Amino acid sequence: MMNYRKLLTFPQKWVARLINNPMTWLGLAASLPFTGALTAMAISQQERLPEVAPLSQQVTEALVLQPQLKSQASSVRYWRDEAVQRGDTIARLLNRLGVDDGEATRFLHASPLSRDLLKLKTGATLSVEVNDQGELFGLRFLNDDENGEKVLVVIEKRGEQWQASADAPQTDTVQTVRSVVIRTSASGALAQAQVPVEVRAGLNEIFADQLTLNKLRPGDKIHLVYETLLYKGAPLATGNILAAEIQHGGKTHQAFYFAHDAESGAYYDAAGKPLKKGFSMQPVNARISSGFGMRFHPILRSLRMHEGVDYAAPEGTPIVAPSDATVSSVSQQNGYGNVVVLRHSNKLSTLYAHMSRFQPGLQEGSRVKAGDVIGFVGSTGRSTGPHLHMEVLIDGQPVDPATTALPVPGLSPSQRLAFREASVKLAANLKLLRAIPVSVAQLD
Ligand SMILES: [Zn+2]
Repeated sequence: MMNYRKLLTFPQKWVARLINNPMTWLGLAASLPFTGALTAMAISQQERLPEVAPLSQQVTEALVLQPQLKSQASSVRYWRDEAVQRGDTIARLLNRLGVDDGEATRFLHASPLSRDLLKLKTGATLSVEVNDQGELFGLRFLNDDENGEKVLVVIEKRGEQWQASADAPQTDTVQTVRSVVIRTSASGALAQAQVPVEVRAGLNEIFADQLTLNKLRPGDKIHLVYETLLYKGAPLATGNILAAEIQHGGKTHQAFYFAHDAESGAYYDAAGKPLKKGFSMQPVNARISSGFGMRFHPILRSLRMHEGVDYAAPEGTPIVAPSDATVSSVSQQNGYGNVVVLRHSNKLSTLYAHMSRFQPGLQEGSRVKAGDVIGFVGSTGRSTGPHLHMEVLIDGQPVDPATTALPVPGLSPSQRLAFREASVKLAANLKLLRAIPVSVAQLD
């Protein structure tokens, strides 16, 4: 089961540069004045790193990011990404990109897709495939359909025919690696290395019990391996951080993701010890039936963003506060049904939805201790059956409860074996990243 986060924007400046630039990717990375760090692309030169096949393999895949770049010299086609601004329509955005293609515009007007599906959301990313003549070959963007499910809207030219579809995207997962040296700030360095914002937030959480990213000093290093979801070779969303290493003040901190099952996982150090303590208990005694992130819905054939985790538990099962908290709200909402929000600290809140009923007497401002009952599992609001939908919010932003706040189980002997096998490979990748000479200046 895949676990993907938000739409990711891709550094299109690179694409534009690449077209006129036959240099190697390593040379390219070095030649970009504003590229702060050595990235996955930089280690595409397999002859430099002959001994570690798996990473070279993955990187090779990741490098097919823009396969159109290799096309014929006569008419170079390439993908561009453009952020949707307030008030943008597809036509307006194409105009801004210098696309002048009457046939494409006519098709857009007559397209079989609903108006709502073609409405662009501010902040979304529209990818267009064009050539240097301003001719359009395709465009795509993620949108929500009438059920609130994520779909990929694709409008493309197949031969001489234009086609439109809005479907769950057929995607591939690859590992992306990033390596940065901090010059001034970690956030600046990561942003410069085009590390998606979800990955940056995740990294902060993974190491929250050991260090704070904004305390990192010049000269400190961050190495990362994370999943990227590709659609037709271009990044669409990010998945889990699989491994991370921070070298700070002479100490090396490592984290490895281990999936407990298809729906959830947590981070461990190289010895298999949980990195975070998490809450002292689960809100219900049940298994997680649906994990956090961008998930593919097999029946609806669509991709949806799940902002929490679901526990499969029968109606009436007591829900307890997993940690001491103040009740910040007890309310009824359309989608969530009967919902309670707890505040555990300035930063961290948790949310419990679809309750059949609240614990009597529970109200805004009540103090609860870990283990106190706050309500009971139900199916109120938009829900297909009794379950607990739980969210963890850090500064109001939903994060994966399993990796950020829920209790992290120790590894069983068989899990330990599986962990070792996976982490050894990831550690080799981190080691490889460590060996890369990072000589590119970072500006931030
Ligand atoms: Zn849910």
